[in-house]
Amino acid sequence: MNTTKLAELKLLLLKTKTELQQQEIEFKGDGEPVKLDQSKVGRLSRMDAMQIQQMALEASRRRQQQLLKIETTLKRMDSYDYGFCFHCDEAIDIRRLFIDPTNTHCIKCADI
Ligand SMILES: [Zn+2]
Repeated sequence: MNTTKLAELKLLLLKTKTELQQQEIEFKGDGEPVKLDQSKVGRLSRMDAMQIQQMALEASRRRQQQLLKIETTLKRMDSYDYGFCFHCDEAIDIRRLFIDPTNTHCIKCADI
């Protein structure tokens, strides 16, 4: 892969990383447990609030996984091992990498 493309992909990853980290900071800011004040909120809306919190926790979990994937991808970018399919060792289509730079499989092996 040429170094310009690699640098572009790296920038893309770093941008996503910053966004995810920002979202995590915001999430942790109001990630307090649902208040169980029955006098103010009815039973249904309390369940809604808990469901919303569950979804927020799930989103946070996904962000942390994504951040981990980004970290390992950045390491691979530095080790010249980047851009090749984990399965067949062929170069991964650059357009595929621009959609998601953390892709580890070529289009042929992605479905296996
Ligand atoms: Zn492959």
